[in-house]
Amino acid sequence: MPHTDILSKLGPCGLNCSKCFAYKKGEIRKLSTELKKNLGNFDVYAERFVELLDEDDFKKYPNFKIMLNHFTNATCMGCREDSCKLFKSCKVKQCSKNKSVNFCFECSEFPCSNHGFDEHLEKRWLVIQNKMKKVGVENYFMEIKDQTRY
Ligand code: SF4
Ligand code: SF4
Repeated sequence: MPHTDILSKLGPCGLNCSKCFAYKKGEIRKLSTELKKNLGNFDVYAERFVELLDEDDFKKYPNFKIMLNHFTNATCMGCREDSCKLFKSCKVKQCSKNKSVNFCFECSEFPCSNHGFDEHLEKRWLVIQNKMKKVGVENYFMEIKDQTRY
């Protein structure tokens, strides 16, 4: 049985919720919140820097800020506690509960076609599950825990 800390981060599909932009307790939200705080009232300065530095990149600041705000507003508590905000068609979460497995590779029907994923996510799901099956959940987690998800 994997440690509960690992289970709170890895969904039954194997994706790492803790590196997801929508995860409330994730690095992306945390760092975005810090960046937003550090930028303070940069809006005014961004406008000035367009002329002062003759740099058009600063014209894009309002759009950048929209994305930054989006990241700071992440609310998801992770797959095992919340409903996924990204993959609405995912069937793995409910199915793994029905099959009483923590991860799909532990299921007798793996690999199945009941996941509900598109072809890209299916490929990723297969790679992750096969890796976990081979090296074990703990070793897999140690290997990927600091890697970006994107
Ligand atoms: S459940 Fe979905 S939206 Fe939530 S953190 Fe995990 S992958 Fe991201
Ligand atoms: S049937 Fe498929 S989706 Fe459901 S737990 Fe087994 S491998 Fe995962």
